[in-house]
Amino acid sequence: MKLNFFNTMGRSVQDFKTLEPGVAKLYCCGPTVYNYAHIGNLRAYLFDDILRRVLEYAGYKVDHVVNITDVGHLTDDNDEGEDKMVKSSRETGKSVWDIAEFYTEAFFKDIDSLNIIRPTVTPKATDHINEMIAMIKRLEEKGFTYEAGGNIYFNIDKSPDYGKLALRDRQDLHAGARIKVDSNKKNPHDFVLWFTRSKFEHQAMVWDSPWGRGYPGWHIECSAMSMKYLGEQFDIHCGGIDHISIHHTNEIAQSEAATGRKWVNYWMHNEFLIMNKGKMAKSSGNFLTLDSLADDGFSPLDYRYFTLGGHYRSQLQFSKESLSAAARARKNLFDKVIRLKGETNNTPSSIISQEGQIYIKNFQEHLSTDLNTPRVLGELWLMLKDVGLGSQDKLAIIYEFDKILGFNLENLEEVEAESLDSDILELIDSRNNARKEKNWEKADKMRDILLEKGIIIKDTPNGTEWTRNV
Ligand code: AMP
Ligand code: ZN
Repeated sequence: MKLNFFNTMGRSVQDFKTLEPGVAKLYCCGPTVYNYAHIGNLRAYLFDDILRRVLEYAGYKVDHVVNITDVGHLTDDNDEGEDKMVKSSRETGKSVWDIAEFYTEAFFKDIDSLNIIRPTVTPKATDHINEMIAMIKRLEEKGFTYEAGGNIYFNIDKSPDYGKLALRDRQDLHAGARIKVDSNKKNPHDFVLWFTRSKFEHQAMVWDSPWGRGYPGWHIECSAMSMKYLGEQFDIHCGGIDHISIHHTNEIAQSEAATGRKWVNYWMHNEFLIMNKGKMAKSSGNFLTLDSLADDGFSPLDYRYFTLGGHYRSQLQFSKESLSAAARARKNLFDKVIRLKGETNNTPSSIISQEGQIYIKNFQEHLSTDLNTPRVLGELWLMLKDVGLGSQDKLAIIYEFDKILGFNLENLEEVEAESLDSDILELIDSRNNARKEKNWEKADKMRDILLEKGIIIKDTPNGTEWTRNV
């Protein structure tokens, strides 16, 4: 299966070709573990998961690295503000190490509940300080750094194509700097590789280095750790679009300065999850977590379904109403799968018919054209409604789609279908009793009540069936 992805570097859809045949090396910027991930962050990890599944579906072995940032990420990406971990420690009274451990576990719990396949490696920044120091030394030896006010800075003026990912031209970099300027910086866009004095006071995590005791800047961790696990050149680097202008721009500058050659071939960025007309973000308080969705009765897989309904390069507008619609569709899908399993004795076709193959072909086409998951969902429902297809074919096609959709439908328990609220189960039971007693008036009334509650009742020769009204 040939793949085409939109590459932010070049702003075009391009054929995907790996450096090493059959192996795709993928690095995705991961969480800063100072708080729970919000569902906007989780959109980014869900996008990474779809990408990884598609690469595997297309036959690649995928080396998937996601970093855990447990030091060095300031509240402002531009070296301003306070370390997010230190801030959280001050606010909660817990140690930075305890906070990191707690929220790293919370991150894994979240991604597991969303059926996100765990990355091959999840390196922690604090376990890789030596690799970061080695890279800064390499940059120093090549003349890309300077020391000022106790910090080591990367000098962007030594890097002729600085800003190529964000399409920033040099004039713009010198003239229009609206960012707060650290007076130590020669160019306002220079960035810190190693902090010593300037942010030192409240920092609990510090290490010895050739430049004094201190801690690394945020950007250096991704360069050092990706190269350790994937090599000095690799295939794909991912992250949210907010990373294009600073974080990824700086990662590229320092990585290519260190090695003297191109670093990453494909840059893929997911758009934001939007709520109340603004980007979902912790800093503005405009955010929700999986736990808060659970309080409203939503399962993590409802959110997974919801995100699949939007293309990863489009903004996705979140509301409880649209999540409810996704939840109904997700439940309906699960119910259909349970029914198909029942009808076929859980035996999908081993060879899908020619009519069925058309759906598989379309599915692959949607994915290979820049991961078009909304069209995959459209194709899925079209297929399920196709009266010309047998149940065994339908089940086999669903299982094929599910390799990417990731609902684990093959192992779906009957329990899922029975996840109707007990009051609804009671209504269905009492309607069945009314029918047995030939009390048609009561049975019809109960049917209307159930419909109001979103359950459609159908009486078939094999008994009464129900579906959710989507
Ligand atoms: P952070 O922990 O802030 O570095 O964010 C983790 C990941 O979530 C990064 O790839 C961000 O770009 C991404 N991200 C942050 N906010 C949103 C949002 N509202 N929608 C989608 N992705 C986001
Ligand atoms: Zn990163």
